[in-house]
Amino acid sequence: MKGKIRKFGLYLLTLLILSSCATVPFTQRKQLILIDPQTELALGLEVREEILKKAKICKDPRIVNMVNKVGWRIAEATGRTDLPWEFTVIDDPETANAFCLPGGKVFVYTGILKYTRDENGLSTVLAHEIGHAIARHGAERLSMLLVAQVGEDALAAALEKGSEARSKAFLIAYGLGAQLGVILPYSRIQEYEADHLGLIFMAKAGYDPRGALVFWNRMLREQKGYKIPEFLSDHPTDEKRIEAIKRLLPEALTYYHPENK
Ligand SMILES: [Zn+2]
Repeated sequence: MKGKIRKFGLYLLTLLILSSCATVPFTQRKQLILIDPQTELALGLEVREEILKKAKICKDPRIVNMVNKVGWRIAEATGRTDLPWEFTVIDDPETANAFCLPGGKVFVYTGILKYTRDENGLSTVLAHEIGHAIARHGAERLSMLLVAQVGEDALAAALEKGSEARSKAFLIAYGLGAQLGVILPYSRIQEYEADHLGLIFMAKAGYDPRGALVFWNRMLREQKGYKIPEFLSDHPTDEKRIEAIKRLLPEALTYYHPENK
């Protein structure tokens, strides 16, 4: 029986792979994604509900307006005006983090603002997180987890709506596993790709992409300190990352026309 299930799993996997090659915009990297955009969107909405149930929403109009202003400019720069974008600020000065769920649901914790400091710094973080979402890195990671589980016939369970396996796999894949005690940082390829897309989105939104260097250099110094912000545990940085950003800047600057904003 077990052999049969395994065979069926492999058959299903082959079918899925044949129909599941996606391409990342701008970088043109080919990726294997086993989750269709509708399922991904539904998963994003489920998690959004969970977060909103527990979170204390920030009401400070100065902060909320700034996050919405920067966020919408980046969202428009992605060209994905079909997505139901939403920017929520969570009042939590102890948490230095931000993320974007599929479907453009963006969350910013007030604790990240002492590191972003100004609009340009915030645009660096939001454009990077939105870059992960546009490139569907979470779906790609979830696909990898599913492939790893197929042999144990967990694919069906993992995709069953409302199942614990599904929400657990989702949280880990989308970099939200810290609450489960499982941190799976984005791969280096995905990190560099999110930087790449982020620089282009920043520039198109009218924010100087050279500001990203200022932000990441600041984070590099923070990383050497005694208290490391959450954002850095998911986004470890080093001189190589800074060098890669420098190499990407000439391309990003061709999209930078601040006089149009
Ligand atoms: Zn990242």
